[in-house]
Amino acid sequence: MKHDVIIVGGGVSGTALLYTLSRYTDIRNIGLIEKYNNFGKVNSAPTMNSQTLHFGDIETNYTIEKARKVKRYADMVKLYLEHQKAEKGDEKLFIKVPKMVLAVGAEQVETLRNRFEPFGKLFPNLRMIGKEEIGKIEPRITEGRDPEQELLALLTEDGYTVDFRKLSHSFVENAKKLNPAINIYLNTRVTRIRHEGDSFFLETKEGTHEASAVVVTAGSHSLLMAKAMGYGKDFSILSMAGSFYTGPKVLNGKVYTMQVPKLPFAAVHGDPEVHNENITRFGPTAKPIFFLERYNYSTFFEYWKTFGFSLRPVRSILKISSDRIIFNYLLKNVVYDFPWIGKRAFMKEIRKIVPGVKTSEIKFARKIGGTRPQIINNTNRKLELGEAKILGDKIIFNITPSPGASTCLGNAYEDTGKLIEFLGNRFRFDREQFEKDLVEQEYSTGAVREKAGS
Ligand SMILES: Cc1cc2nc3c(=O)[nH]c(=O)nc-3n(C[C@H](O)[C@H](O)[C@H](O)COP(=O)(O)OP(=O)(O)OC[C@H]3O[C@@H](n4cnc5c(N)ncnc54)[C@H](O)[C@@H]3O)c2cc1C
Repeated sequence: MKHDVIIVGGGVSGTALLYTLSRYTDIRNIGLIEKYNNFGKVNSAPTMNSQTLHFGDIETNYTIEKARKVKRYADMVKLYLEHQKAEKGDEKLFIKVPKMVLAVGAEQVETLRNRFEPFGKLFPNLRMIGKEEIGKIEPRITEGRDPEQELLALLTEDGYTVDFRKLSHSFVENAKKLNPAINIYLNTRVTRIRHEGDSFFLETKEGTHEASAVVVTAGSHSLLMAKAMGYGKDFSILSMAGSFYTGPKVLNGKVYTMQVPKLPFAAVHGDPEVHNENITRFGPTAKPIFFLERYNYSTFFEYWKTFGFSLRPVRSILKISSDRIIFNYLLKNVVYDFPWIGKRAFMKEIRKIVPGVKTSEIKFARKIGGTRPQIINNTNRKLELGEAKILGDKIIFNITPSPGASTCLGNAYEDTGKLIEFLGNRFRFDREQFEKDLVEQEYSTGAVREKAGS
């Protein structure tokens, strides 16, 4: 049977697209292929990521333009979560806690104060608070701290902590209810995609599936598949594993620290666990590894295939790491994963948030933390911030480092628009309904459409 669309990968990105197609288009003949026995088991699993719905309000490495885009997309996830809760009660998809970014010392305080003006306009719920109020909301931030040290924070009540694996399941359940004709192939790994005539043939050990259009949402593996088809030749992946340290409940909400603007990762933060607020997680670290999927050693060769066997990516890596800030950052982060010394080195980062925490209270979180496929652009030899989308002939490849889970519905919106074009406008995308349901009022119809087309 020929599908109109096949999605490869059942993480939060692939399932968000499955939901969007089922709810807002009349495309019925859809397939989703996932290599594991269930959805959301790789980077979308709650053990693998920081569980934060990133809006761009407290991520100090985002520019205002980046924050505007991320906010629009994160709002879609927020609205989906809130609608689900209103309709079905608490399914434990998310918890809501206060969230702040903390500036420590005169220099950071000055930077954060300047940032508040433009970001406060974009995020009306953001408040600037001083030491006293910080101490009331998060007593462990001020306890044991040098009283001379300057503190300032931007605070919001919109600290959505999300179980993105559960969210993937929610998308699939709702999609199946809306469209029982969906074909889901679990335990099925796509080994090759061929494009012949008007069809794509997706080869798996269990047989070949045919489709008119394909979206690959397979995390790092999306670039592997793109390269095998001759796309994305200018990109390589720097696979940045993130580890965490955990401790008892020392924070009531999410506390982020200030990031160096050059680095495409969120700075170290402390967060309550989505399913157990009595545990605080600190991290993530950022260590380069040579695997496309963390803890899956069979992805070693796939990593090098994706990296590319030529001098170009090596030159890019040398150029990127010749920057002293990036080099020192990477070196420091490699140390954080070492036994004994790693924890002692990382305590310095944790104590920027909770000065009085004891080393004995903190432990390395084993097998927690996935790996972010950070894009290396071999043309300008730069590390790119955020996701990459490669558009081919009736095929799309999505590569999703952080905040890829927060932008899953926004990406699905963009891809749905493209799919309608790929399928010769034979189908209808009810953008108006999508926007009514999932777009905040401030972004009118035109604004989202403009972005999707840009
Ligand atoms: C340490 C860390 C912290 C993070 N924190 C956050 C955060 O706080 N907020 C946020 O928004 N984002 C965060 N992210 C990023 C976020 O986790 C990812 O962007 C998101 O989960 C990506 O979802 P995805 O569906 O694209 O990929 P994945 O969840 O990785 O799903 C890809 C799927 O494709 C399948 N697949 C792969 N190859 C094949 C194949 N050949 N055939 C069939 N199926 C295949 C995989 O099995 C997998 O199920 C973090 C990431 C890390 C590593």
